[in-house]
Amino acid sequence: MMDCDLLIQNGLLLTMNGPDGGLIEKGFVAVTGTTIASLGPSSALPRDIKARSVLDAAGKLIMPGLVNTHIHAAMTLFRGLADDLPLMAWLQEHIFPAEAKFVSPEMVYWCSKLAAAEMLLSGTTTVADGYFLEDSAARAFQEAGLRAVAAQGIIDFPAPGVPDPAGNIDAAADFLENWRDKNDRITPAVFCHSPYTCGAETIRRGKELADLFHAPFFIHAAETRQEVEQIRNSYGISPILHLHSLGILDEKTVLVHCVHLQQEELSLIAACGSRIAHCPESNMKMASGCAPLPQLLKQGITVGLGTDGCASNNDLDLFGEMNCCAKLHKLVSDDPTVVSARQVLRLATVDGARVLGLDRSIGTLAVGRKADIICIDCNQPHLTPLYNQDLLVYSARGADVTDVLVDGQRVVENRRIRTIDLEETLSRVKRMSEAVKNTE
Ligand SMILES: [Zn+2]
Repeated sequence: MMDCDLLIQNGLLLTMNGPDGGLIEKGFVAVTGTTIASLGPSSALPRDIKARSVLDAAGKLIMPGLVNTHIHAAMTLFRGLADDLPLMAWLQEHIFPAEAKFVSPEMVYWCSKLAAAEMLLSGTTTVADGYFLEDSAARAFQEAGLRAVAAQGIIDFPAPGVPDPAGNIDAAADFLENWRDKNDRITPAVFCHSPYTCGAETIRRGKELADLFHAPFFIHAAETRQEVEQIRNSYGISPILHLHSLGILDEKTVLVHCVHLQQEELSLIAACGSRIAHCPESNMKMASGCAPLPQLLKQGITVGLGTDGCASNNDLDLFGEMNCCAKLHKLVSDDPTVVSARQVLRLATVDGARVLGLDRSIGTLAVGRKADIICIDCNQPHLTPLYNQDLLVYSARGADVTDVLVDGQRVVENRRIRTIDLEETLSRVKRMSEAVKNTE
């Protein structure tokens, strides 16, 4: 006889194992504690299985929770504050001043909670966040029941929580120390903002610190042409070669954006095993350019999908991001076969997990993996008929997600979030936005 805590059954099961994703017409997943105890076609369901609770997924698709490899959660406060601007003007004239004025531990806590609610309700179960005062963000993620790689932001000018930039590495060290082994779902990490806001010594020390804690290291790199020029003027080489010269490129480093790359840099990233977080909507909105995703994949580089902060997106819905990603590369390369929907689905699940070094526990549905599972209501006009999983990329939206499990916990049930007081979170952020509005 087999016991389990939750039995999800009668759904279309997409495990994301194998190149085709392993679609099972009618399947089940049995969850015990935080992990998947058993799964397969309904015909293989043990007759004597005893489940403490049952989720009937008839008409639904069951799949691994999505992985967002790059966001700045607290920036939900700045959603829609300054649209339609190029990156440097947007950052220097709007975002940095607004951050200097409004970012506080309370702001980061509530705005990260809002981000967590938005992500969980739209099927994202794991996120890589990078921001200031990350302790407050990590607390919000922990309470929300989200799985997160939470990275303390480092920048070489006065920042929220670190008025003197000389203390930025120490502040990150305190954060890593505080969160190591605190919670299974929260992995503390380091996020140096960029090669143009962090000096060479800061980047080197930030990476050293990350290595000391065996933690992932994130940095925005090669995002805009202007950045490439600026780094060339300062150091005589491109941003990627600059980072390589500092000893940054290895398997624990996630390069965010990588829009402007030369072939030699592609080969270098592949040889060093660094990962890339690809954020197509943010790059489109800022007109930063289009990352060479087909070439990155051809080189065997591990790439995940990211929404970036929602001030430059403006939402955290990975379904929308997948849709944009698949279409953008077809348009830019004049070739509809260049990146397939199946490949994009992998970016948002199994490959995203590899980017964050979590692929042994999440990204696919398999026995022994963490029970990070989402259900999608396919019994709707825009998802009918359902011939195959490509529909998830081209027709589905975050709002189609009905149920979400993280670590075996039912965080979203029938489109309602159980771990967050949504009313209070919305009203807190709205109140903060009034102050922002009054100073604009
Ligand atoms: Zn970013």
